[in-house]
Amino acid sequence: MSLQELQECIAVDGAMGEGGGQILRASLALSMALGKPFCMERIRARREKPGLKRQHLACVKACAQICQAKVEGDEMHSTSLSFAPGPVQAGCWHFAVGTGGSAMLVLQAVLPPLLFAGKPSSVAVEGGTHVAYAPPFEFMAESLFPWLWRMGARCQAKLVRAGYMHSGGGRVELAIEPCRAQRPFEALPFGDFEGASASIYGHGLPEGVLGREIGTLLARGEALGLARERICLHTGPCGAERSVPDGAGNMVLVSLAHGGLHTVFAECGWRGRSAEAVAGHACARALAYLKSGADAESCLADQLLVPLALAGGGSFTAQRLTSHAATCLKVLELFTGRRARVEKTKGRVAVSVPCAGKEE
Ligand code: ATP
Repeated sequence: MSLQELQECIAVDGAMGEGGGQILRASLALSMALGKPFCMERIRARREKPGLKRQHLACVKACAQICQAKVEGDEMHSTSLSFAPGPVQAGCWHFAVGTGGSAMLVLQAVLPPLLFAGKPSSVAVEGGTHVAYAPPFEFMAESLFPWLWRMGARCQAKLVRAGYMHSGGGRVELAIEPCRAQRPFEALPFGDFEGASASIYGHGLPEGVLGREIGTLLARGEALGLARERICLHTGPCGAERSVPDGAGNMVLVSLAHGGLHTVFAECGWRGRSAEAVAGHACARALAYLKSGADAESCLADQLLVPLALAGGGSFTAQRLTSHAATCLKVLELFTGRRARVEKTKGRVAVSVPCAGKEE
């Protein structure tokens, strides 16, 4: 880093709050979009194996490529990083995680700056598309993107191949029409409940697992009006557009349609987690959200914060403020010097995010 970059460098403590990979992704996205260098210590300090894993390193490399950043510490297991961004380049990008690490989380880092890059971009990412503790493809395409449209950006996503936790091999492609201007954001209200549907991704599973997941969806999803004909199975190669790779994997998605939107609840299956737990949790989370009537479900809430701040700021109600969201708000404050307002109201949380850009 140059002396000036060092002087301007924002110090981010990777151990604050949630202490996971999202602090890194939010910092990368804000650093690029705002042109502010940062240094991070104690990366993922609250995780069992701290430091950069493959997915996080893929995020750093992808971001560095997009803005020709000067980077130090971009190595596997590194617990510190310095990142000095150059101008964000819209264009045609291709990244690969190289394992089953989440391709969608790479998009979580690179998408916000590209939404404000002035020109259209296309991005392809290879890796896991349906993995634990990360948004699946459907969450991004169906739950997040309509909110980005409201912020003034158009994103279209295509799932070329699903990729699971251990095997990866998935591919997602995005076409991004950026925001043309910052403007006040209006939250998308919950609206009227229009019904529930579900998808099961399952491949190479022990016999009976899919049947038990369907049975649980029907039993636990009764309160949501979930019917058998609304459950879609992706169990093997289903054409060139949506084929499942060789590795075994399982994910259950319950989707609520409301007010012209879709909110997706994903639960990942793995060895030792029962089919009933996987499908049952997805239904329970969907039901709890339906009862809350909040604008945004809690995973969506943390993923809205960075794009919303960059788009000009605005307010929405969330089902609750998770530690991911609270931590993301702290990162926003570090980069912008502006504090979000959070107020608890009748079983929901109202979040008011200040503008991260030049004007407020
Ligand atoms: P670490 O390995 O350090 O935990 P990570 O990079 O895997 O880090 P987190 O910091 O835990 O990730 O962030 C996970 C992100 O994935 C958050 O934005 C969270 O909202 C999102 N996420 C996790 N599970 C889901 C889910 N089921 N649906 C949608 N989004 C999810």
